[in-house]
Amino acid sequence: METNGTKQAWQCRRCGHAGERLSGPPWPGAEGERIAAAVCSACWGEWLERQTMIINEGRLSVRKPEHRQRLLEEMKVFFDLETAD
Ligand SMILES: [Zn+2]
Repeated sequence: METNGTKQAWQCRRCGHAGERLSGPPWPGAEGERIAAAVCSACWGEWLERQTMIINEGRLSVRKPEHRQRLLEEMKVFFDLETAD
């Protein structure tokens, strides 16, 4: 890994690895931008599995704004997005 210079290698916020980045924001709005900037595609895949469980357990619909909001809160906890860098 390249260590010279001041530019640090990108690391996934969740797993800490320099994994494959997401190709774009996977969620609308500012949260999607933050997720795309913070986590690797493998961790996003883990979240999608978790999200499916949450949807099934809570009988949520992503079409309902209040359910989307709940998923967003779970997502923020999953990726630790509330913590300042
Ligand atoms: Zn990761």
